Amino acid sequence: MTLTTATAVIDRQALVDNFNRVKTFAPKAKVLAVLKANGYGHGLERIARALPQADAFGVARLDEALALRAAGVVKPIVLLEGFFTEQDLPILAVNNLQTIVHNRQQLDALTRTQLEKPLKVWLKIDTGMHRLGINPEDFDDFYQALSASDNVDPDIVLMSHLGCADDKENPVTNSQLALFEQLTASYNNEKSLANSAGSYAWPQTRYDWIRPGLILYGVSPMAAPEQSAQSLGIKPVMTLQSSLIAVRALKAGEAVGYGAAWVSSEDTTIGVIAIGYGDGYPRHAGNGTPVLVNGRRVPLVGRVSMDMITVDLGKDSRDEVGDLAILWGQGLPVEEIALHATTIPYELLCNITRRVQIEVV
Ligand SMILES: *Cc1c(COP(=O)(O)O)cnc(C)c1O
Repeated sequence: MTLTTATAVIDRQALVDNFNRVKTFAPKAKVLAVLKANGYGHGLERIARALPQADAFGVARLDEALALRAAGVVKPIVLLEGFFTEQDLPILAVNNLQTIVHNRQQLDALTRTQLEKPLKVWLKIDTGMHRLGINPEDFDDFYQALSASDNVDPDIVLMSHLGCADDKENPVTNSQLALFEQLTASYNNEKSLANSAGSYAWPQTRYDWIRPGLILYGVSPMAAPEQSAQSLGIKPVMTLQSSLIAVRALKAGEAVGYGAAWVSSEDTTIGVIAIGYGDGYPRHAGNGTPVLVNGRRVPLVGRVSMDMITVDLGKDSRDEVGDLAILWGQGLPVEEIALHATTIPYELLCNITRRVQIEVV
């Protein structure tokens, strides 16, 4: 007997196909592939190595960028939140890392230190999301100060970030775009606005650099269920799977799992699958969350445990211990599981824990 434990199968061909698909949306734009949070749970170095076509990589933390350099990645890498302390600046310079500048403290640090070689800067303007970015009225001021500094490469990229691009009907995107255009129209610099949703759904946001994350991993960045990954022409890169480690007969009126939270209304068969919140399967996935067992959808029943979940295989089940169960990925979009767990696919993917086995195909 050999039972598979929780395994994330990573399909590199799907990643490359998705990348090529995204290129068809914005054939002229360069691609900054976003790899933060361990490549959205798919493995930082693994994803970087599998995407030699990318023009640059984006990460959120210096440690992530240094891990890529240590793995031999020589492509441009951009710190999407910029540097966190002035002491990091020489490290950025030595490792050829690019930085976003989004606040006055970063500007001051960058203009007052002495670097051996200038850093490439992406100046981030807040066009309406009100998270990171300088205020529009400060744009000229920041731009002049950066341009005048010997520490800054003269080719500054102008950028902003979209807050509502996942909804094609939302007017916020057009107002962000209009403000970005108004501020930057007279500058010949490279520009960047689009995340995954912008790259797909908002042609005018594509500019010189698109910054796709989620869509590369084969997950739809759009909120409307009909704008599914399949309809976008992308395929899941991660398939999370495990196996049945028990198949048990259950009588009508009997409960399953912690808190006896689910009671069967009829005689049935319960399957126990070796995956739980200790692997990153969401504890808030409710009764009825679909699981693929032997290619057929069966409902999760009872509470998610640390190492196990229980599913209702039905009275006529012929499933056996050792049979394969897919939690999300091929045949079962993670988007759907996210809805059942009242979260978003981003969170499910990057919450995969270290004990999950990785199988690269
Ligand atoms: C995370 C991030 C992205 C990618 O977002 P997706 O929705 O995954 O495409 C793009 N740009 C910035 C600045 C980000 O932080």
